[in-house]
Amino acid sequence: MNLKGQKVVVCGGGGFIGGHLVKHLLEQNVDVIRSVDIKPRSEWYQESKGVENVVADLQLKEACERAVKGADVVFNLAADMGGMGFIENNKALCMLSVLINTHLLMAARNEKIDRFFFASSACVYNGDKQKNPDVTALKEEDAYPALPEDGYGWEKLFSERMCRHYEEDFALICRVARFHNVYGPLGTYTGGREKAPAAVCRKVIEAKVSGKHEIEIWGDGHQTRSFMYIDDCVKGSCMITESDIREPLNLGSSELVSINQLVDIVEEIAGVKLKRNYNLSAPKGVNGRNSDNTKILKLLGWEPSIRLRDGMARTYEWILSQMTH
Ligand code: NAD
Repeated sequence: MNLKGQKVVVCGGGGFIGGHLVKHLLEQNVDVIRSVDIKPRSEWYQESKGVENVVADLQLKEACERAVKGADVVFNLAADMGGMGFIENNKALCMLSVLINTHLLMAARNEKIDRFFFASSACVYNGDKQKNPDVTALKEEDAYPALPEDGYGWEKLFSERMCRHYEEDFALICRVARFHNVYGPLGTYTGGREKAPAAVCRKVIEAKVSGKHEIEIWGDGHQTRSFMYIDDCVKGSCMITESDIREPLNLGSSELVSINQLVDIVEEIAGVKLKRNYNLSAPKGVNGRNSDNTKILKLLGWEPSIRLRDGMARTYEWILSQMTH
């Protein structure tokens, strides 16, 4: 299947990844007919021309029916979410996103759409396999036996299964990618929903601008993660959507760093050295997590590969421009 020639709807298009996806699809001459988000348009990170930009609450079934009208392909990137600070403290809100995917699937089936993409997360993986910062990268089968991140991860795992059953029972073709920590320009960097890469950029810039050369780090800084640059995320999402791969697939970088190493990178980009204060009672998530890319490499012959140093330089520049303009 080729996205070119299809009528595409992006749900969550006012958000970070959704905004980049709409732009990327238009650059590839894909016919994006509609982009839908609950936020007022003034708060969308990007708004593309030539697309019907709709404000609607996709937790409501009628809104989902209107959203998918006339579409061949639906990307569901809409969710009430944020970094660890948000998802550890808003489990009910995270789980309510189940209404979005459920109503979108119901509407997509009625509309007889050809293909449905669901943005899942590495938070579906069994927590027992992520206790050690010295991680073994997560393979797709490590989602079971199920012990996902409380709240947010359970919603993602349930919605993955809902997609699977819609495909098995109703022949609605569904594709699922498990994103691992996506970062880049034109996303959240303040307000409580930001994730580690953007938060570290913001804190380093604040320290540099104020002259108070200190930084607060959540946890002991030894927790490890991999971070995927946004361009790899949108490219991979399109490849997975176009593919014949029926099971959920990891979509993440395999370049593992500790949070301390992430801070080293941003300090080096900014040209400062900061005193580090570790907040051991702050939300920090699992101790270690990385993406095992064996399957995506085998099935697509490709994996996210933009270097963290390069992506962070672009992210830092954008956040700096926002904070200093
Ligand atoms: P984001 O918060 O920037 O985008 C999500 C968008 O969904 C927001 O603009 C929000 O307003 C919208 N939304 C929320 N509730 C809605 C509703 N009821 N109706 C309509 N729109 C609604 O987050 P993002 O980083 O762009 O994430 C996109 C998707 O990818 C989400 O499903 C998220 O769970 C998933 N994901 C992201 C990451 C990451 O690192 N960013 C990692 C794993 C999975």
